[in-house]
Amino acid sequence: MEKTIVLASGNEGKAREFRSILEPLGFKIILQKELGIDSPIEDGKSFLENAIIKARYASLKSNMWALADDSGLAVDALNGAPGIYSARFAGEHGDDKANNQKLLELLKDVPAQKRTARYYCALCLVRHGDDPVPLTVVSSWEGSIGFKELGSGGFGYDPLFQVTGRNCTAAQLPPQIKNLISHRARAIQALTYKLKYNLHD
Ligand code: IMP
Repeated sequence: MEKTIVLASGNEGKAREFRSILEPLGFKIILQKELGIDSPIEDGKSFLENAIIKARYASLKSNMWALADDSGLAVDALNGAPGIYSARFAGEHGDDKANNQKLLELLKDVPAQKRTARYYCALCLVRHGDDPVPLTVVSSWEGSIGFKELGSGGFGYDPLFQVTGRNCTAAQLPPQIKNLISHRARAIQALTYKLKYNLHD
């Protein structure tokens, strides 16, 4: 039987990626905004804490299973910034263009070999708002930050994110490839495995 999960995010880019991986497994994903649910204050200090806060809130408000993703980019030359502030790095939430420009500006004197970075994705699935054993995972994806934006796929920092082992940016990858190898794809695969075998942390 199809199980409906509320996605505690308003980001359509993420929703597309979650749907393409979870729908073939029999899960129906609805966005919290379709249920009129707002977002809680994300005051955790880590990706995982924020994912747990968001999942609990959406589940409490909807009385349904809820899945939250908290993700972002960590650049070594910037001591892990933008990190949990990835979406609002340049000020306004979700302004990808401004975020990418700010990143290029901060790294303008950093040579290619020191521009290493990785995406992180923390996921949390709860069955109810007070679920004492949430399913959680944190996965990453290695890359480095290029000198100019390349490609039109993906979202966020993808045009600047040079994928380790491939001669292209995340925005130049066909979506079906990104959905196989990205931080989010790996996290979803790990979460699906835990879900299937009921493996709680
Ligand atoms: P969140 O919605 O609080 O998890 O913020 C995630 C932010 O991290 C996004 O707005 C992007 O700036 C960045 N991000 C996370 N995953 C990706 C990705 O797959 N591609 C590009 N940017 C990403």
